[in-house]
Amino acid sequence: MKKRAVFLDRDGTINKDVGYPNSFSLIKIYPFSFEAIRKINEAGLLAVIVTNQSGVGRGLIVEKSLHDIHRKFKATFAKHDAHFDGFYYCPHYPSSLIPRYRKNCQCRKPNPGMALQAAEDLNIDIKKSYMIGDKVEDILFGLNIQAKPILVLTGFGKKSLLKLKEKGRIPAYAASNLLDAVNWILKIEKKASSGLN
Ligand SMILES: [Mg+2]
Ligand SMILES: [Zn+2]
Repeated sequence: MKKRAVFLDRDGTINKDVGYPNSFSLIKIYPFSFEAIRKINEAGLLAVIVTNQSGVGRGLIVEKSLHDIHRKFKATFAKHDAHFDGFYYCPHYPSSLIPRYRKNCQCRKPNPGMALQAAEDLNIDIKKSYMIGDKVEDILFGLNIQAKPILVLTGFGKKSLLKLKEKGRIPAYAASNLLDAVNWILKIEKKASSGLN
């Protein structure tokens, strides 16, 4: 049977958005994120990070440092009994000075590439899945892949909500933060499994 996933943006959603952090010491994980990811795990949903990391293409982060950040990121969540089932990033930047990253790629959100790759790798039913993020492109990504898009009001969330309203692209839910978003998902999942939906 196919699995359902919660696709998650990283910066501004799970941790503070501080621009282009090139070391784990600059990553500040929101304190509520551990419980949020643990709850996704316990509900039997997959927790899958999909993050645009154009800092790589911009020459601000080397890919090796990004791998190191993500290794420590996972280890920190493991200490809190929480884990990620998938971890995808887009290193590209269309006007990168580094040829291998100079690409109008399919993986840069709002393009669907990272979700399609994850669906193939992890056997995910995307249309029964969710996307949580703080930026307009996260919500557009969720809409593009036909998952339920949830905006968090942390990071760029408040500005994004205004922009989305102007565009008439409304998220399924605007959550105060990641934990609120996950609690909303679990309510929906509970309703669905009890046949009320
Ligand atoms: Mg973000
Ligand atoms: Zn890409």
